[in-house]
Amino acid sequence: AQQRYATIRKEPALTLCGQRIALHMNAGLMADLPSLESSGAEGVGLFRTELQFLVRSKVPKRSEVAALYARVMDAAEDKRVVFRTLDIGSDKVLSYMKPQDEPNPALGWRAIRVGLDRPGVLRMQLQALIRAANGRPLSVMFPFVAQLEEFRIARDHLMCEIDREGRLGRPLPEKVEIGAMLETPSMAFSPRQFYEEADFISIGGNDLKQFFFAADRENERVRRRYDTLNVSFLSFLEQIVKRCEDTGTPLSFCGEDAGRPVEALCFAAIGLRSLSMRPASIGPVKHMLRRSNLAEARAVIDTARASGAQSVRPAIMDWLRRRD
Ligand code: PEP
Ligand code: MG
Repeated sequence: AQQRYATIRKEPALTLCGQRIALHMNAGLMADLPSLESSGAEGVGLFRTELQFLVRSKVPKRSEVAALYARVMDAAEDKRVVFRTLDIGSDKVLSYMKPQDEPNPALGWRAIRVGLDRPGVLRMQLQALIRAANGRPLSVMFPFVAQLEEFRIARDHLMCEIDREGRLGRPLPEKVEIGAMLETPSMAFSPRQFYEEADFISIGGNDLKQFFFAADRENERVRRRYDTLNVSFLSFLEQIVKRCEDTGTPLSFCGEDAGRPVEALCFAAIGLRSLSMRPASIGPVKHMLRRSNLAEARAVIDTARASGAQSVRPAIMDWLRRRD
């Protein structure tokens, strides 16, 4: 199988019906960057910046943070890297942060909520990103945005830092893209302005799914209880795809499910055109997409949905078995 994936490494993820799906990789450490070349990923769709903070015993200095981002951008050369600002709290706890005794940490003070309430670290991180870009393009994504206003305030912090760097006479990024992760169901129903103002949106499927089904992603008893290919969840994702199509907002999906070939095929069939996954999944997902006709997969999904099935998985698996 490894051999098979190696032969398509430089080929695009082009489906039998001629649709191109962009495949990006998730990363979080400098050590992940060589995979950009070996996996054939088009770029880094999600760089989890919290890993650098998690391995330390205290908050890293701005210069250290900027140095890491610059090395990541250097290693990526002209491929796009989407930096997600700190997503701490919940399952990612910093040893040097005062423990928050929260009854439900996943629903608690985490990610952009911490960034907006205590903007010091967020602003330091944004400065580090601007400095690391040093005249190159910059893509920043805010995690766990649950209402439009949070996105706007986070974006204003970034604009403010760009202004400030400019006044200090430092080189500014050639262009800046500001995106949001869509990880709470609320954003699927947000005002249209969210979709218009975000330069791009990335579905954080791990969190979105846990909140959609009210099933803790960390709890072994329930984490696999609801299928990602459950018709309700697929229809929900499809609504997000439609809203992004209406406003022309680039959309991707960066949760673990994007790296599962059958799930990736179904996501493409309902209209997703960009997926970000762990590097080792790029080959298998690309192989699946290149053998598939999305209109046919879509018809199987629609028939299963109309039949009252709980999940489209049995129908898709049956179709794949007959096909291959
Ligand atoms: C997600 O929630 O799907 C995601 C990509 O972010 P994380 O897994 O880091 O929460
Ligand atoms: Mg998440």
